Amino acid sequence: MSFAASPSSTPDTPEARRYNRIRRRLSVADFVLGLGLLVVLLATGWTRTLRDLAYIGSRQHYVVAVFFYLGMLLLLGKLLGLGLDYYGFRLEHRFHLSNQKFGSWIWDEFKGWLVGLVLGGIVVELIYYVIRVSPQHWWLIAWVAFIALFILFAQIAPVVLFPLFYKFQPLANEELKQRLVRLGERAGTRVRGVYEWKFSEKSKKANAALTGLGSTRRIILADTLLGNYSDDEIEAVLAHELGHHVHRHIMKGLALQAAITFVGFWAASFVLNYAVVRWQMFATLADFANLPLLALVSTVLSFLLLPLLNAYSRYNERQADRYCFQSITNIEPFISSMNKLADQNLAERTPSKWVEALFHSHPAISRRVAAARTYAQESASSRKPVMA
Ligand SMILES: [Zn+2]
Repeated sequence: MSFAASPSSTPDTPEARRYNRIRRRLSVADFVLGLGLLVVLLATGWTRTLRDLAYIGSRQHYVVAVFFYLGMLLLLGKLLGLGLDYYGFRLEHRFHLSNQKFGSWIWDEFKGWLVGLVLGGIVVELIYYVIRVSPQHWWLIAWVAFIALFILFAQIAPVVLFPLFYKFQPLANEELKQRLVRLGERAGTRVRGVYEWKFSEKSKKANAALTGLGSTRRIILADTLLGNYSDDEIEAVLAHELGHHVHRHIMKGLALQAAITFVGFWAASFVLNYAVVRWQMFATLADFANLPLLALVSTVLSFLLLPLLNAYSRYNERQADRYCFQSITNIEPFISSMNKLADQNLAERTPSKWVEALFHSHPAISRRVAAARTYAQESASSRKPVMA
C-alpha cells in the first residue's frame, strides 16, 4: 500500500499498540461473558426460576412480571460484567486518557444501566404484548413497531439521552459558525446547530459527530477538540461531519438497521417456534422465560454482521472524507487534525488488516491521510493541463 511508504506515516508507539490490544480483548471478553450468561440461563433452566421469581414479585401480574424478569436479567448481566467495566475505567487512567473520577464513573454506570432498563423495558413489553395478541405474525408487527421506536430514539437521543451523561451548549465561536454556514451554503444544505460537547469533564480524548434526525439534527464537537485545534483544523472536522449529512448517512444507516432487524425478528420467530413446538423448552411463545433465546438470536446475528457493518461504516467515512477534501481549500489542516486525533486518542495509525476489518468503524488514520494526499496530488495535476 502506498501509505506504508508515505513519509508522513508515523509508526505506532508500543503504548498505542498495547492500549488498543487490551481494549479489543476487553470487548471480546465482554461479548463472551454476555453470550455465556444467556447460554447458561437457557441450558440450566435457571431462566424458568427467574421467571417464577418475577411472577411471585409481581403477584402474578404478567406485564409487571415481564419487567421484573428483564430487570433481573439486566442486573445479572451488569454484575457479571462489572469487573471488566471497572478494568476498562482503570485502563483509560493507566494510559492517561481519562479525567473521570471514580464516583462519576459509578454514577454513569448506574444511569447507563437504568437507561438500558427503560428502553429495553419498552421494547420487551411491546414484543410480548404483540406475541400474545398475534402469535402468528408477531415478528412482523413487532418489527414495524421496533423501527418506529428506533427512529424515535434516534431523534430524541441528542436532546434527551446524551445530556444524561454530558453537558452541551451551542457553539460560541462566531468565526467557526460562519465557516460552517459557508460550507453548508456551498453544499446547498444546512445543519441546524453546532454544539460544544463538554467531553473534558470525563476524557482527554477528542471526538466529533453528526447526530439526531430532523429538528434535532446537529453536529457535536468535543471541547477537547475545540481547545487544541486551529480553526482550519476544526473546519476540516466540520466539513467531514457535513459530508455525513449531505450523503444522508444517518437515514441510510437506519434503513440498513431496518433490513437487518427484519431478518433478526424473522429468525427469532423461527427459533422461538422451534424451541416451543419441537424442543418443548417453553409451554407457550408468550412464556417470557424464552427472552434469553431472543437475546441470543440477536447477539449471534449482530456478531456475524459486525464485520459487514464496520465495512459499510468505513465506506461512509471515506465518503465523508472525500466530501471534506472537496470542501476545504487546503488539505493540510485535515491531515494535521488526523494526526492530532491519533495522538490524543492513542489510536493505531496502522492497525493490522484483519483488526481493521473486524473491529474498526473508521478507516485507519494512515489510510485517511494517504487518501487526502492522493486527492491533493490528483486535483493539482488535473488542474495543470487547464492552466497550460
Ligand atoms: Zn465520520
